[in-house]
Order: sequence, then C-alpha cells, then structure tokens
Amino acid sequence: MENKRLYSPKQIREVLDRHGFTFSKGLGQNFLIDGNIVRNIVKGAGITKDDYVLEIGPGMGTLTEELALNAKKVVAIEIDNRLKPVLEETLLPYHNAEVVFGDVLKLPLRQIIDEKCQGGPVKVVANLPYYVTTPIIIKLLEEGLPFNSITVMVQKEVADRMVAKPHSKDYGSLTLFVGYYTIPEIVLKAPKSVFMPQPKIDSSVIKLTLRDSLPNVDPDKYFKVVRAAFLKRRKTLLNSLSSKEINADKDEIREALKKAGIDEGLRAENLDMNDFIKIANELPNI
Ligand code: SAM
Repeated sequence: MENKRLYSPKQIREVLDRHGFTFSKGLGQNFLIDGNIVRNIVKGAGITKDDYVLEIGPGMGTLTEELALNAKKVVAIEIDNRLKPVLEETLLPYHNAEVVFGDVLKLPLRQIIDEKCQGGPVKVVANLPYYVTTPIIIKLLEEGLPFNSITVMVQKEVADRMVAKPHSKDYGSLTLFVGYYTIPEIVLKAPKSVFMPQPKIDSSVIKLTLRDSLPNVDPDKYFKVVRAAFLKRRKTLLNSLSSKEINADKDEIREALKKAGIDEGLRAENLDMNDFIKIANELPNI
C-alpha cells in the first residue's frame, strides 16, 4: 500500500512524466516528496473525520490525498490548469476530495465555503509559494472568513517572526499582526530535501489557531501604533510614536503612555501585545 502513495518520489516522477508535466518556477511549484512531512502536516493541523478542509495549492495532490484520508471533505484550490488531468487521476479514489481551479486571491472564498463546506468553519491547509502566503493569510484574517485554523508552510524566517517573543530581533509588526487574531505555533521544520525540485531555502509549517474572541481594541488603531513603533524600532516609544503615521502630538503621546502605565523611554521590542493594546486604547483619535 505504502509504495502506491503519492509521496514516493518514484511515483511522483512517474505520474508527472506520463502527463508531460514540467514544474513552473513562477507558480512556486516545489512538490512534497516525503511521507513523514506529509503525514505530520495533517497531524499538526489536527484534522479529523469531522473536518471540512480548504487546501490551497494542491499541486499533484500529495497532501490532498493524506487530507482526504483523514478529513470529512477536502476542497482544494489550484491555479494551474495543466494539473487538471493529473489531479483527476491522482484523486480519483477519493470521493471526498474536490478541486476548484482559479487564483485563491481572486476566488469568492466565502461562497465556496458556503456551497461546498456547509458554511464552515473550515481548517485551512496550504503549501503555497511564499509570495502568495502572506497575502492569503491577511485576506483570511481581515475578511473574517469562516475558518478556525490555518496550517501553512512558510519560509523558516517568517515562521520565526510569527512566534517571536518580546526582546528578540524577530519580534515585530508581523508577530503582533498574527498574534492579534491567532495563537501561532510551529508544527514542524522542513528541510529543502523534502521538495522536488529543491528550493533554495528551508521552511517551517506554522499553525495559526483563531482566537475565541479578539482583543478589546480597535484593530486599525492598534495596527497603526504597532507599525509606527516598529518603523523606528531603535527609537524610544515617545519618539517613534511621535510620527506622521499617528495623528497626535508629542504631549498627547506622552500622556497616553503615562495613562497606559508604560515608560516612554522603552523601545517597541520591549512591549508585549497587551501593552500595545493599552496604548491604542489611550489614543482614540489617531
Ligand atoms: N501542495 C503540493 C505539495 O505540497 O506537493 C504543491 C505545493 S507547491 C509549493 C504550490 C502549489 O500552489 C502549486 O501547485 C501552484 O500551482 C499552486 N499555486 C500557486 N499560486 C497559486 C494561487 N494564487 N492560487 C492557487 N494555487 C496556487
């Protein structure tokens, strides 16, 4: 049984050659060829037979197959029409897997989830090119689409920034953006060797679990404060926040920091998410 699974490099080569498929660098096509990684992504995503899964970028269906074996249903979105005959063959045995062709950034995701996943919430699983990953994470979070977690392969450095703690060099706007909506955790590390063709960089799989309730702050004001603070991360908070990004003068900033109980001489990286929330709540008119 094992050697019939898609993740065997021999099996992948055979299927792709038979279809005359060539990898597109532009679409970031690096396919997984390692069974342990494929199984551990699905395990890390916590997929059960009760779950509807929205997979983004199925490629030739390697991860889709493992998802279909573990989930109630998988709806996969793939941009490359050349993969149609390949996926028709590889997913033939899996009646609970369906592929929608199109660009995930342009398709009406809410409608797809309504029609094909009983309105969700879905679990999102993706191994995408890196230039699509951040925009899709932002889209899913900002549009409040019905999902409860995103498990996604990202560049190792991006995962490190998402889970970074205060006082570290990786800690910044991305940490505080992702942390506002979700609780992030690194599920596994994936060396270059688990892909065909091999990329130049190492990757990590990160799981972002949506918070039960969002922090009590206006998100626009919170993100404004965070962005201004980290734009000049070497400056003191009083100076970094006294910038054109923020519609308040230095005295108002000083007063807000005082009311929030935060030393104006600290720097952005010394503050945790609650500190930024307190500051934003003291600056209601920015
Ligand atoms: N999931 C497969 C695997 O792990 O072997 C393939 C991963 S490959 C890194 C990324 C896949 O995303 C490719 O199949 C590519 O065609 C697809 N893709 C790229 N941009 C996309 C987009 N905007 N919308 C949907 N799929 C996209």
